[in-house]
Amino acid sequence: MSPPPVRLHVTGLTRAFGGQPVVDDLSLTIAAGQVTCLLGPSGCGKSTTLRMIAGVEPLDNGRVVIDGRVVADQGLHLPPEARSVGLMFQDFALFPHMTVAQNVGFGLRDARDYKARRVDALLERVNLTGFGPKHPHQLSGGEQQRVALARALAPRPRVMLMDEPFSGLDNRLRDGIRDTTLEVLKDEGTAVLLVTHEPDEALRMGDEIALMRAGRIVQRGSPYNVYNAPVDRAAAAFFSDIN
Ligand code: ADP
Ligand code: MG
Repeated sequence: MSPPPVRLHVTGLTRAFGGQPVVDDLSLTIAAGQVTCLLGPSGCGKSTTLRMIAGVEPLDNGRVVIDGRVVADQGLHLPPEARSVGLMFQDFALFPHMTVAQNVGFGLRDARDYKARRVDALLERVNLTGFGPKHPHQLSGGEQQRVALARALAPRPRVMLMDEPFSGLDNRLRDGIRDTTLEVLKDEGTAVLLVTHEPDEALRMGDEIALMRAGRIVQRGSPYNVYNAPVDRAAAAFFSDIN
């Protein structure tokens, strides 16, 4: 069997604010159906990295390639909607005045019949069959999160970019939603970049972990390797408060 195709290829990504480098020559590759967790302490540049890949933040240097197509480099900046990326953020709210079905179908340009079928199929995927006519305020936090996942998946993005998407949820709900999210994304063959500052989340969800510090990736590998063979004392300390 041939290896899964590369969906996201980032090289030399660099961004400075006020002369201070925040993301410094960062490179990443993620294949179809693979989850890479970008893990690191608060302020190390995770969100800025994700925002440059998404196209909501310009880059100073480097290149972003999605499915073999250059979507950003020094001279080129395609807008987010032209990059085949799905976005999920903690505070990426649903549209409150729209129904669940309208929220999920929002980014779809298809004919009405096709769109309705796609929305129904997506709601079934995230275990929300029959929720289409409801409004977001009638849903629990976990249900809203699953609607957001369905909405992000609707246009069939090649890459899903998630920035701490589960941090607003209480512990009881979080595990189930993590599992559903991974299952659905892997089924669709989407490459996933998940940003988190929580080591246990990265260990649980990543096929690969990229450990980030001060704008750079200091270690990458399987969860097993990163946890058991930390690259230095700081990396060991970062993992040590997991219970
Ligand atoms: P993380 O997501 O890892 O917590 P961020 O990427 O949000 O880190 O931020 C990294 C650093 O860049 C922080 O010091 C932050 O204050 C700074 N930063 C982020 N965005 C901007 C901006 N638009 N202008 C100036 N500084 C910024
Ligand atoms: Mg952040």
